[in-house]
Amino acid sequence: MKKHNFSAGPCILPKEVLLKASEAVMDLNGSGLSLVEISHRSKDFVAIMERARSLALELLNLEGKGYQALFLQGGASMEFLMVAYNLLEKKAGYLNTGTWSDKAIKEAKLFGEVVEVGSSKDENFNYIPKGYSVPSGLDYLHLTSNNTIYGTQFKKFPTTDAPLVCDMSSDIFSRVLDFSKFDLIYAGAQKNMGPAGTTLVVVKEDILGKVSRKIPSMLDYQVHINKESMFNTPPVFAVYTSMLTLEWLKNLGGIAAIEEENEKKAQLLYSEIDLNPVFDGYANKNDRSIMNATFNLSEEGLKDTFDEMLKEAGINGLNGHRSVGGYRASMYNALSLESVGVLVDIMSEMERKA
Ligand code: PLP
Repeated sequence: MKKHNFSAGPCILPKEVLLKASEAVMDLNGSGLSLVEISHRSKDFVAIMERARSLALELLNLEGKGYQALFLQGGASMEFLMVAYNLLEKKAGYLNTGTWSDKAIKEAKLFGEVVEVGSSKDENFNYIPKGYSVPSGLDYLHLTSNNTIYGTQFKKFPTTDAPLVCDMSSDIFSRVLDFSKFDLIYAGAQKNMGPAGTTLVVVKEDILGKVSRKIPSMLDYQVHINKESMFNTPPVFAVYTSMLTLEWLKNLGGIAAIEEENEKKAQLLYSEIDLNPVFDGYANKNDRSIMNATFNLSEEGLKDTFDEMLKEAGINGLNGHRSVGGYRASMYNALSLESVGVLVDIMSEMERKA
């Protein structure tokens, strides 16, 4: 039976990417050796790393603008501390839009003063804070562009004279933005890019080297830049698969093309949520994410019927995060409009049954 994977991550990748990646695990480019057996210093793998780094910059339209792309390890969670280690001298600003920003704030506090510029904690993070003012004199301002758990997403970003740092783990490569407004972007691979194991960091080189503390080599962005993202053995499978996904996206027409598709998917699902009395949306309408749609059943008693129907239709990964409950449909780049259609058909059938 065809499966429709709405999981929040690790998530769906394009089938052709999975196929090519699995072929390379057996035999990379007809070399007779597996991707995971060859030396990461070999010509073949150096070319893969270079291609992945340059594709990332090309797709984000950041080539030739003083940025470096790195494929690091430790997940986006490692970036919570690396960002502060490398950039926080005295005071940083954070917008608290949920669990992931909360975790980033906790790490940053180990390195300096943290100002919570805005927060949506009062409503369990179902909206993006507005009307706050960003103080001057910050070492950087940190945002989470898409709040995977709550289904909220920044549509407009604050302006500040401080470097802008953004955790884009759950919406990188999904919509066109002026990425040059950001000085550092990071994203764990496992939503829109590849298998878990690598994290993309895109950093404007001139923001580095300004803190007085000593930074351990493995946590120092400049060391990774100097070593062309090969300071130590890289996670070759995750990097190669990410490179394939970036190639897939480029061939599709880049971020603009996928954004059009993502908008269609989100519109289809949100109009069903709004029209169908059996379901209530969780996130504030103006702040809804096009990647993660959160919703609840209006009557808990319908849960068993709905869950059974989802199972029968091959729908996977729709349970909401434990801190919100209800349901969450994650519609990352590789999820088809057809899969969203299957979900919406079930939701309308629920209305007839209720
Ligand atoms: N930031 C965001 C927005 C996320 O959605 C996640 C995980 O889902 C993380 C950070 C943590 O990522 P990792 O598990 O790669 O450390």
